[in-house]
Amino acid sequence: MKEVIFNDEQLQKKLKEWQKRLRLQDWLIKARICRSHELPDVMAVPTLPKKMALIKILDHNDYDPTCVFPQDMEDSLVHELLHLHFAPLGLDDDKYIELEQAIESIASGLISALRENGGKENVR
Ligand SMILES: [Zn+2]
Repeated sequence: MKEVIFNDEQLQKKLKEWQKRLRLQDWLIKARICRSHELPDVMAVPTLPKKMALIKILDHNDYDPTCVFPQDMEDSLVHELLHLHFAPLGLDDDKYIELEQAIESIASGLISALRENGGKENVR
């Protein structure tokens, strides 16, 4: 695994790509690279009735350099986007761990499949 770090412009491009892939195009989503002091506990803040969300991605300068997993902003972005699909189910509180595990498995699976395919997807 190697680091995947985006600047703001790259992040916006990835947001558009993944919104399409995950069929979240009817959401108004803003993604921002934030310093650690700007990040609350929840990194995807959805406003469900309006289908609006703010996604905060940790700035590379604040990523823990001792972490065994290198920072992957694409994984973080996809993870937070997937939360938007699950938000209406209201599982956030009582099934928090199970939800996080499922979302992270799906996010890393999707990204691995895409990267193994050289970034190209088979559109059906
Ligand atoms: Zn999560």
